[in-house]
Amino acid sequence: MTTAVIPGRPAAAVTDVQILRNGNWETSASSRRSDVFNPSTGDVIARVPMCSAAETSKVVEAAAAALPAWSETPVVERARVLFRFREILTKNFERLAATVTREHGKTIVEARASVHRGIEVVEFACGTPSMLMGEILPNLAHNVDAETVRHPVGVCVGITPFNFPAMVPMWMFPIALACGNTFVLKPSEKVPLSSNLIGELLLEAGVPPGVFNIVHGDKECVDALLTHPLVRAISFVGSTSIAKYVYETGTKNGKRVQSAGGAKNHLIIMPDADLDQAVAALQASAFGCAGERCMAGSVAVSVGGIGDEMVRRLVEKASKMKVGPTDGDPTIDMGPLISAAHRDRVAGYIDAGKSDGATVALDGRRDLPARGFFLRPSVVDHVKPGTRLADEEIFGPVLSVVRATSLEQALEIGRKCPYGNGASIFTQSGYAARQFKQHFNAGMIGINIGVPAPMAWFPFTGWNNSFFGDLHIQGRESIQFYTQGKTIMTRWFESAADAAHDPVWRQK
Ligand code: NAD
Repeated sequence: MTTAVIPGRPAAAVTDVQILRNGNWETSASSRRSDVFNPSTGDVIARVPMCSAAETSKVVEAAAAALPAWSETPVVERARVLFRFREILTKNFERLAATVTREHGKTIVEARASVHRGIEVVEFACGTPSMLMGEILPNLAHNVDAETVRHPVGVCVGITPFNFPAMVPMWMFPIALACGNTFVLKPSEKVPLSSNLIGELLLEAGVPPGVFNIVHGDKECVDALLTHPLVRAISFVGSTSIAKYVYETGTKNGKRVQSAGGAKNHLIIMPDADLDQAVAALQASAFGCAGERCMAGSVAVSVGGIGDEMVRRLVEKASKMKVGPTDGDPTIDMGPLISAAHRDRVAGYIDAGKSDGATVALDGRRDLPARGFFLRPSVVDHVKPGTRLADEEIFGPVLSVVRATSLEQALEIGRKCPYGNGASIFTQSGYAARQFKQHFNAGMIGINIGVPAPMAWFPFTGWNNSFFGDLHIQGRESIQFYTQGKTIMTRWFESAADAAHDPVWRQK
């Protein structure tokens, strides 16, 4: 613990974030540290080490050393550890949600919801014994039986983004551990505290030393993980450019990789939509978590004449949202962005829209709290396809509105989108919904749902530049990702049964 001195304010305690290796919390030997902020205040609350390749390698070695015993532990016993972890998570629910809010800035309501989503993955993982059952076909040939079973892959790595400090790590390790792998988590350096709290709770649940480890860092640390000979599988979630890099580097080094990237999600509002419902969903989708969600609605495509009324109602609602520090006020509707630099980048899109001929219907750069990284909800109307606002991931509370004349035109916008995470339609027409479901170019579809993010039992099926790999995160695909199949052919000879040393059961 050191103190951070901010001019004009009392010195605050600053945590030196530890790494978790072989069941022990250690102070990193790295001379490099990065600041962790409370985005609601702009204060430094912790310093996180940027671990060297050598230190990272030691953490991987601890995971490899723990692998033989853990992979041989019966799956029902591994599941029992997760049942205990679930109970401990439930007891520490408020503490974890508060940590998420403190280091990320999302509202406490949003933080609680995200922790719930993570707990659901633990619940899914508790059912792993049933999902690990193999298949058998007896007498496939004369006296030959064939079976397939699934084995752990080995040391698995999770590299996670800043926007869901607890949930995204929990998309990964509960399933990996239940399948008999050991795990090294490399959380976002912007939000390391939730991961460390999760590590504490896992140890309390009885996860043996070395089975779950945490290393902190940036590119040096990530590169060491991507190339380490003892690492067998890598799960990544983050921006598209890094997701592609992780996929290419990991696979080139012989790892299996699932790599989820950025997004540009479209919400189509048909002329027959229930506008109250649609506007409420738009508002929650675009401005929930301050737009820092890979499933956030980023472009509203209004079809036909509904656009003017939709924008009017949306602006009215969004302009009344209570924006402010989330770490002490549960009534806030929208919190800050993750950093000052990111806030400035997002705000820059408002002027970019103007320059490209769009109309700013609601400008979020007004009446901002003096401290913290805030931007209010912004709506930019008449955005033209092919401009920056229409095409680029913004990852903040700026909603672009594109006007279309037909569903076909809206589908065409999707066809040209290089991303492919989520898309939703708002309509009362079954046929329009069906056309959309069948033809929109994205992997997760919502019908009258603003954020169609799948829950634990279903895979997170991003397409195009939103995902690199074959087997997605969550659901049964993740069980396949964290295991490898083995096929066994068995033949026993009848003659052996006649041998003198063989079964008594033939003897009278
Ligand atoms: P990011 O890509 O900057 O960072 C993600 C991880 O990669 C972090 O752990 C970071 O330390 C590491 N990293 C950053 N730069 C690196 C480099 N040059 N080399 C190696 N590793 C590097 O992403 P972020 O800003 O933390 O998160 C926001 C992004 O994540 C958005 O694009 C969002 O859409 C995406 N995201 C996607 C999903 C999904 O399911 N598709 C979910 C959540 C977030």
